[in-house]
Amino acid sequence: RRKGSFQLFDPVVHASEQAEAISYEQLSSELETAIREEQLEVHYQPILEIVDPRIGSARPDPLTVPGSLYAVEALVRWRHPRHGLLSAGAFIGAAVRSGFIVELGAWVLRTACRQLVTWDAVLGRRAPRRLFVNVSPAELSDPGLLERITRDLTAAGLAGDRLTLEITENGPLDSSSFPAEVVDGLRRLGCHLAIDDFGTGHSTLGRVVEIPASVLKIDRSFSSALPGSLESAAVISSALLLGHNLRRTVVVEGVETEEALRALQELGTTHFQGFHLALPQHPDALTDAILESAGVGERRAAGRLGA
Ligand code: C2E
Ligand code: MG
Ligand code: MG
Ligand code: MG
Repeated sequence: RRKGSFQLFDPVVHASEQAEAISYEQLSSELETAIREEQLEVHYQPILEIVDPRIGSARPDPLTVPGSLYAVEALVRWRHPRHGLLSAGAFIGAAVRSGFIVELGAWVLRTACRQLVTWDAVLGRRAPRRLFVNVSPAELSDPGLLERITRDLTAAGLAGDRLTLEITENGPLDSSSFPAEVVDGLRRLGCHLAIDDFGTGHSTLGRVVEIPASVLKIDRSFSSALPGSLESAAVISSALLLGHNLRRTVVVEGVETEEALRALQELGTTHFQGFHLALPQHPDALTDAILESAGVGERRAAGRLGA
């Protein structure tokens, strides 16, 4: 893609017209068989931590890898027998409306925890440290959630602090969206919460303070307007200031161009996610990409030492 970074061809159609082309009724009736028939997959999109070398970074070797792998976000995919590989945006709405999201979410969580263990075994210290999993508000208020998380973490032998649940801020999100037993239980396990699509929902500034989330993910509608939009830049820099003052990690989503990346760095962004940096991809492809980028770094370091 550019010096020191990688991008794989991604055959997934991300366009929202997928959702329009396939009817809700059709999707929800077929979804139930999708798990049984093993048509669902989880893909993973890297979230990178990048410290701009121009802004006083102490990064020892800016030539190796431009960003370090901060986390991976699990994104469900449906290898549909007739429609091909569907991205989550095409069918999550149907799953939420039909209530099937709870079963689907349970499957994603289990699958992603197992994948993290596989990465630990195959990649060692290069394995993603944190796993971000999307959870709809319906799942968060499901009494079985905590039990499932506990079981999946224990079965996989994973420490709780490796799991972050992303909650989408698509309705009025306040402390009542986070049932106390769930939040306490998650805290005991060491798990983290993230607010997804931050800035698009209804939470007031005051409420952000109440929400027990250690990560804010700024919605991609703001970064996609960069560079050029003073308004979006103002929103992003205010959210960064708010988040950082509250000691939260602030991730900016939807980084699609080098220009947007630069503009975000000027605003003080440190955590990035977007097609420009890395696509959501099949876990095996991500394993190869991580091994490949590690190899490139090592070859470069060796070459320099030898020179
Ligand atoms: P999200 O959590 O905000 O995830 C980011 C979405 O934006 C993903 O779409 C991803 O493929 C896409 N994306 C990433 N980088 C870029 C970029 O640079 N530009 C653009 N235009 N798009 C980008 P996807 O996979 O279709 O997911 C859509 C939404 O579906 C997710 O939004 C999330 O809210 C939900 N979702 C995905 N997987 C799950 C799941 O397992 N459970 C639940 N409950 N929801 C899920
Ligand atoms: Mg998300
Ligand atoms: Mg998001
Ligand atoms: Mg989003």
